[in-house]
This record gives sequence, structure tokens and C-alpha cells, in this order.
Amino acid sequence: MFWTEEVAAKCNGPQIVNDSKTPSGRVHVGALRGVLIHDAIFRTLREKGIEARYLFGVDDYDPVDEIPKGEDEHFGKYLGWPLCNTPAPHGAPGDMAEYYMKEFWGVFDELGVKVERYRMRDIYRAGQFNEAIDTILRNADKVRRVYKEVSNSDRPAHWYPFQVICEKCGAIATTEVYDYDGKEVSYRCLSGKVVNTKLNLGRGCGHEGKISPFDGRGKLPWKLEWVAKWVAFPVTIEGAGKDHSTKGGSRDVSEACLRAIYDKEPPLRVPYEFFLVGGAKMSSSRGVGAGARDMADLLPPEVLRFLMIRTKPNSPVNFGDPEKGINEESIVKLFNEFDRYHQRVNRDKTATPDEAIVYRLAEMQPEGDYANANFQVISALVQMPHLDTVKEIEKRVGRPLTEVERRHLDERIASAKLWVERYASEEEKTKLQETLPARAQELNAAQRGFLQQLAAALPGTPWEDEQLQGKIFEVARLTPIEQPVAFKAIYRVLLDREA
Ligand SMILES: [Zn+2]
Repeated sequence: MFWTEEVAAKCNGPQIVNDSKTPSGRVHVGALRGVLIHDAIFRTLREKGIEARYLFGVDDYDPVDEIPKGEDEHFGKYLGWPLCNTPAPHGAPGDMAEYYMKEFWGVFDELGVKVERYRMRDIYRAGQFNEAIDTILRNADKVRRVYKEVSNSDRPAHWYPFQVICEKCGAIATTEVYDYDGKEVSYRCLSGKVVNTKLNLGRGCGHEGKISPFDGRGKLPWKLEWVAKWVAFPVTIEGAGKDHSTKGGSRDVSEACLRAIYDKEPPLRVPYEFFLVGGAKMSSSRGVGAGARDMADLLPPEVLRFLMIRTKPNSPVNFGDPEKGINEESIVKLFNEFDRYHQRVNRDKTATPDEAIVYRLAEMQPEGDYANANFQVISALVQMPHLDTVKEIEKRVGRPLTEVERRHLDERIASAKLWVERYASEEEKTKLQETLPARAQELNAAQRGFLQQLAAALPGTPWEDEQLQGKIFEVARLTPIEQPVAFKAIYRVLLDREA
């Protein structure tokens, strides 16, 4: 059974799917996996007539802890502050969370992912978590016990699971609550605590105070924030990345807290593996190509959805070559696989049930059959400045393209151009040579003879694909030279490539 079907089979009654993101910098490409896994589940539930909602939260009460690359000067003074209270960089309007989410929301729209958005800032300030905060603070002893039993981490007897926003310095990461009287918490802003030890920035101010924990004056630590979301929304399905899903990891702690405090069962758990680009869990510091936005720029939406959905959540999604990154072979293979599914589902009707599900969930909207232009051909054509790619594809299809075909072709042309510009190695680029490249010196006598005869034969040959190809075969036969060796000679002199 396909993984989305397995998840759906476990569901009874209306469902609330939840996922969230802490936008502490440009959102990384890996975050797309969770977004699309939850979307596939959500769509599957809807398909089956199960009432479902897909909520996506911005965890913007989380503190600034790492500084986005190259932004030390702006963010240095805000280390430890809630993201939503930290101004956006570069004089942009709004706060840091809005700034980085804006780009990410754009990707949601392009991928056809429809969620109900919420911000933790609004949830806390509106008092929606007041009840959960009170309950959790009253059960602080249970939380401490769970931390010890499940993740073997010791919390002192005076520790309470809550972070106040310091009334004096504005930081949320440096405060410690040590008492709760049912109305107010007592806290101190630890001067011995440094948020970012690498930069030695974000030190607590030493202030001590007593305030109400409600209506946005602070937040639950995120393992308890999870519990509050599950209870308050209430969430029935929530996946989590591999890093949170290990034994004794944060997910285990949250589930145990939920059981201990509320005596409730946790949402359905869908642990998922990483999205690997070029064999590595790309770090956001690598810049180009590492952002969710970059991947959405490179791949058309249905192809990106296809890449993420066809692999079951507990296996990593690998895209690209470990050494060469997103090379020609890997991107061509992805498009060709998509096209094969398309053909088996729409034309040949030979798709397995799983393939049909993958294709249906990958499509932005049902479009039936249409001619998809081969990505390798497109990427070769866009590198030929004297050719009009659309006209060349129409020639191959043998009729004018439909509106749907033209839209998909335009998307693929954009992908191919971007791939050539940002990802292709010099060796993979196709450049029509204006003078004889050095590589031509490597031609053997037969290849040279073949090229001379071909040059003589071409002026009398109609300039059409079929006739030209026929002429090349004919000259090769007469030379005589083996066809692959003959083509290699052409590639060497015209494109300065081996193949
Ligand atoms: Zn302080």
C-alpha cells in the first residue's frame, strides 16, 4: 500500500494536520519535505471524503539564536529575542519572521500547497494557550520527571517549563522561571547565560521579576509548545523530521508529557528522513541552491512534488550526485522519470496503483494526457542561440502545442536555462564552437576523413533533422567509420564535448 494510503487507513473522523517552521533565516531546501509530506496526506484525506484541515504555524516566539550568514551587524544585538520582536534586516518592513517566511510562503503558493497559516505570536497574545500554560506550569513536576525518564536530562527542582520575555532587556532565551503561584511566575534573566557562545553574544541582563505568564508574556519551551498545539487545536496528524524522531528525542519527550499531563494519546506520528541534495544534507551556509526558493526556481512544481512524494517518508530523498551536485544526469533522470509516470498513467494505462497515486498527488491539477518535451533536448536547445526552442519542439511534436503543453514547455525552458546558468559544470555546457577547439587535435585519421567528406556532402543536403541525420549515417558508412565514433568527431569539433 502506498504510504499516503497507509496513513489515511489509520484515520477515523475529522483530521487536523499540523506542521510548523521557525524562520530564523532563509528557509532551507530540506524544509520542503515536511511541507509536501503533510500536503500529500492532507490531499489524500480530502480525496477520501475525510474532513481535514492543514495548519501551518510560524514559530516566531522562538528566539534568535543563530545569525543568518552575513547579517552579524543587524542581528547581533537581538540574540535571544523572539523572532517576531526582531526587526527585519536591510531596512525591510516588518519583523524577522515575516521577512523570511515571505519567501517560503511564495513557494507554498507555487507548489499548490494550501494551508491555514498561523503565527505563534498571535496564538500567545490572543490567550489561546493560556489554559495550556496554566495546566503545564501546574504540572511542572511531571514535566521534570518525563525529561529525566525519557531523555535522561536533569532539570533542577525549581525549574518550570516556561520562558518569560524579560521586561528589562527583551530577551526570551535567557530567562528562567523558578516559581508559579497560579497567577504569576517568578523569573530571572540569567547573566551567566549566553545565547550564542560562538559569538559570545546574547547575555542575560540579571533582571528579576514576577509577572503573569499569559497573553503573550512568554512562551512554552518548544517540546511543551508541541503538547499545547496538540491539545488546543487539536492536532491529529503531525510528522517530524528524523532529527526529532529518534528514541528519547524531542518527539518522545513531547508525547510522554502529553500522556503524563493530559492522559491523552499523541497525534499520528509520521517520521520522515532528510531531503539530500548532492548526497549531503546541504547546510544553509552554502548559499546558492540551498534555499527552498532555489529548488522551487529550478524545478517545475509538479516535478518537485513528484520528487518529494514518490519516496516513502522514512527513506531519504536523494537528488543530485554526491560529488557533482545537481549534474545533467541527475536532473535529466528526474524529468524522464516524471515523464515515464505521465505516459504510463495517461497514455499507456499501464501504471501500477502506486504510480497512479504518486502522479495524481504530484500534479498541480488534473490535466490528462499532453506531450511533454524531453528535458535533455530542451537543455541542449536553450544553449543554441540560433534556435527557437518552442519552434524546434513543435517541429518534433508535429503540430502546434496546446495551451497546457506550451505552459509546461515554458516551465521546462526556464528550468533548463537556470540549470545551465547555476548548476551545470563547464564540461556539461553546450557551446557551439566558432573556431576549431583544441580537442579537435585528438581526432584520428578516420574521423578526419569522415568530417571532410561530410563537409563536402552537406551543402547539397536539405537542412532538416531527418535528411541531415540520414546524410551523416550515409557518409559514415562510406568512410567507413563506426557511427558512435563519427558522432564523437562531430561533438568534438562543433561543441568541444566528448559526448
Ligand atoms: Zn533581561
